[in-house]
Amino acid sequence: MFYTRPVQVEYREEPCRSALNPVRGMPFGWSLNPYMGCVHRCTFCYVRAFEARADRPSDDGYGRSIRVKTNIAAVLRGELARQSWQREHVAIGAATDPYQPAEGRYRLTRACIVELAAAWTPFALITRGPMVWRDVDVLQDASRRVEVTVQVSVPTVDDDVWRTTEPGTAPPRRRLEIVRRLAEAGIAVSVAMAPILPGLSDRPERIEEVVRAARAAGAKAIWANLLYLKPGTREHFLAALSRDWPEQVELYERLYAGRAYLPAAVVDPVRERVRELARATPSAVRTRRLAPAHVVPTTPTQLALAI
Ligand code: SF4
Repeated sequence: MFYTRPVQVEYREEPCRSALNPVRGMPFGWSLNPYMGCVHRCTFCYVRAFEARADRPSDDGYGRSIRVKTNIAAVLRGELARQSWQREHVAIGAATDPYQPAEGRYRLTRACIVELAAAWTPFALITRGPMVWRDVDVLQDASRRVEVTVQVSVPTVDDDVWRTTEPGTAPPRRRLEIVRRLAEAGIAVSVAMAPILPGLSDRPERIEEVVRAARAAGAKAIWANLLYLKPGTREHFLAALSRDWPEQVELYERLYAGRAYLPAAVVDPVRERVRELARATPSAVRTRRLAPAHVVPTTPTQLALAI
């Protein structure tokens, strides 16, 4: 479903050879992306930087051609059945939104959740897509077996900033409604306030509004990060900024002069403010406790012996 500006999108059905990608320097060991490219086409999308490095369209062409890994669930099943698989934490959607519109038709994210749960593998998924609610049944099943977290990105509840920077996503209030439903259904759900945009969504009262709304919706945790601008993302974001908020360009050129990441002196106070507010604001939703599954996980080794 498109919320604002629909664009012509090409879907390329291309099977994959591997499903899990090893990750270093992150809190998760593996990532999984059923799609490559994202029709949400946020102006700040950090994936544009990866696309630029891979010599693929990172500017207006980004998000107009989506790779669909049609066989990913079967490939994943094979990888999870390996004797070497240690049931490490998997992040779904680190490089693309796993609940972008294509998921309505292909159901690949859903199929991967089923495989991860069957293999007793913990995972977290991050999305801006309300479609995640469709999969509450398989998320509940997985949550009875392993640690599962759904992170819903809500960087702002300012409709103007949302509409201008996220041309294909659902309104923030709609996403918060999904946070509430998931929390009530017993799913551990967090809100990711990222990216907060200097001069646009970083005013204390705007940040407070998001934290309060997230807690009112039942978010069990809230984390925040400020925008970073690597080459590929930088050019696109600054061009959009000069079109939409020309008066902000000077601030960004000064803040991001010669660097992609803002210094700790700028970032830390914002994160600390979010932490303080989150601590002071209890969740308004009593999360339902899901009974654990009464099935003993079978290790791949045991499986091999049994066969
Ligand atoms: S939803 Fe996420 S992956 Fe998709 S364009 Fe926006 S930031 Fe990028």
